Amino acid sequence: MHCHLDLYPDPHQVAAQCRLNGTYILSITTTPKAWAGTSKLAANNSRIRTALGLHPQLAHERHSELELFDQLLPNAKYVGEIGLDGGKGFKEHWAVQLKVFRHALTSINRAGGRIMSIHSRVSAEAVLEELKSTSGIPLLHWFSGTRRQLKQAVDMGCWFSTGPAMLSTKKGAELASLIPKNRLLTETDGPFGKYQHKSLLPWDVDIAVKQISNIWSVPESEVTHQLMSNFRTLVSNG
Ligand code: MN
Repeated sequence: MHCHLDLYPDPHQVAAQCRLNGTYILSITTTPKAWAGTSKLAANNSRIRTALGLHPQLAHERHSELELFDQLLPNAKYVGEIGLDGGKGFKEHWAVQLKVFRHALTSINRAGGRIMSIHSRVSAEAVLEELKSTSGIPLLHWFSGTRRQLKQAVDMGCWFSTGPAMLSTKKGAELASLIPKNRLLTETDGPFGKYQHKSLLPWDVDIAVKQISNIWSVPESEVTHQLMSNFRTLVSNG
């Protein structure tokens, strides 16, 4: 549910392998200008869907693309990556991040809601505050807030996507164990997401299935069954 297909060194080759493997991808963009080219990678493959985004780490450089965001939104069933980033090197651009995030959320409300992959690094409290008035469906990607913030997000109806990178840390695995089983999906955040020092590829969600199987103490087949059921529910609500 969160992978930057267009940012792999050879996206066409990765897309071709996904077709062979039958991998589902929510192909995330970081700027509205990337939408057209990235959408082409999903041509003739119904298992790849492209999300329209403006990444909070790029908000200060790309806020002028909000107009393009609004133009493209009617044709985008999914949105992402949007959100806020309070981490080092980005917090100084907080004001413009907030402006971009609010603009996107307002446009999404006007467009009747969307499934939205949300970035909330060092910003969970503020992100959840902004999401209170959304008519979209938030899918919190790689959530790294506190337990209390996680509970708040669950109570607000948020969904979560997690992957091998998050699940291989103690804190990430602990948070994932607190997510209701029927709100969890997998992701890789590749090529940025890494596992054992290697960039994750979209089909590496298999690693996450193994990790979740350990966390839930149930067989992998049961995890896969639950995740597929979650996937169908989310997509049919979007
Ligand atoms: Mn990402």
